[in-house]
Amino acid sequence: MADLRDLQRRAADLERESFNNLFALLVECSQILKDIAPARRRPWLLNVVQELYKSQNGLCSICNGPLSLGDMDVDHKVPFSYGGGNERNNIQLAHSSCNRSKQAQVDPHDLLRYLEDRYMNL
Ligand SMILES: [Zn+2]
Repeated sequence: MADLRDLQRRAADLERESFNNLFALLVECSQILKDIAPARRRPWLLNVVQELYKSQNGLCSICNGPLSLGDMDVDHKVPFSYGGGNERNNIQLAHSSCNRSKQAQVDPHDLLRYLEDRYMNL
């Protein structure tokens, strides 16, 4: 039993370590991307915001609660600090408070997909 627990602990350590390594690599790539091709953000198009609202069924992409006009932000899945731009597949609607509490966190899967998309268009 002790061996099994030790093995589980080592597997968890390895998993954490490889995740951290992957994330560090992604951050490095996003910095390089920012240097060679910084995202330029243009103002929102009303129809894009309306389409997002419809596709999200009027629900916040972070907490799933109903959105209202007075409390709604365009949230970037990959934040500007990681080089994220205003591409349609990088934005979603969220409550202002949900967007603020998320700050500059990023899902590594979103970041990887985003970097791949940007890379294909460099
Ligand atoms: Zn919310």
